Amino acid sequence: MTSNNQHTVARRVEVSGVALHSGKVVRIEILPSAINSGIVFKRVDLPGTPSVPAHLSNILSTDLNTTIGHGEVKISTIEHLMAAFAGLGIDNALVKIDGPEVPVMDGSAHPFVTRILAAGISTQDAQRRYFVVRQAFEFKMGDKWIKIEPAEVTSFAMEIDFTSKAIGRQSFSFNLDRDSFLEIAGSRTFCHENDISAMRKAGLAIGGSLENAIVVSDDEVLNPEGLRFDNEFVRHKLLDCVGDLSLLGGPLVGKITASKSGHGLHAAFMKALWVRRQELLTTVEDMGVRRAKDSLSNIAGAIA
Ligand SMILES: [Zn+2]
Repeated sequence: MTSNNQHTVARRVEVSGVALHSGKVVRIEILPSAINSGIVFKRVDLPGTPSVPAHLSNILSTDLNTTIGHGEVKISTIEHLMAAFAGLGIDNALVKIDGPEVPVMDGSAHPFVTRILAAGISTQDAQRRYFVVRQAFEFKMGDKWIKIEPAEVTSFAMEIDFTSKAIGRQSFSFNLDRDSFLEIAGSRTFCHENDISAMRKAGLAIGGSLENAIVVSDDEVLNPEGLRFDNEFVRHKLLDCVGDLSLLGGPLVGKITASKSGHGLHAAFMKALWVRRQELLTTVEDMGVRRAKDSLSNIAGAIA
């Protein structure tokens, strides 16, 4: 097995739970799927069971979560499940869902990760398609920004700065591989207690509770069990970033740095990048061949 191959889930994975924003119980089934099919969601509760590929061209909204779809067909809060796929290196899967929103579980990607690992991951007989950063590109929205630069391996670095003393300034970075991903997979989503009533008035966070989110007041964490990591907040922002950026449709190879980012910034950044992808990215089917070519040209350069 090489990590350059495409992967899918080895067996069916079933997960059910409450949806964060609607508060309804939703069931998802993750099924193995063919090479080059990508991650595709299928609304089995709707007539004709419409499908929506998890791709940036299908992003409908980024208001406190990432929602994809078309017309009335929507799938919300896909980011933690998408992060689980990206972090575990799963390229292809069919996600059948019987409602408009992925269950929130404990507010992290950990429940998806453990169930997928228990079912197993199967290697497929085709190379992955990577998007290798060819040229540095920075995208800003107010005081938020995200930047990509060429690098041999994929790394993520993030900083956040919240006025709430319970969060404050935090930064974290890691190289995206399966083991390092497990260090952020368990970090939970969070909100400020003052924002809860506004979110509920907007019809959001109806299913939210201390069971599936960290809630902070100005200077303390209200969850009785406390935090899972000292810097759980920035780890979760990284988790969201990994999940959202996977909507490019293939792994991004480069150094990714972000400050105060969120779903809206990720979506706008990807759309700007996609427009200029011919110039900024190289699509590579076989990283092994590329590395061999690079080292050959280095040797040729050294001899010359
Ligand atoms: Zn999140």
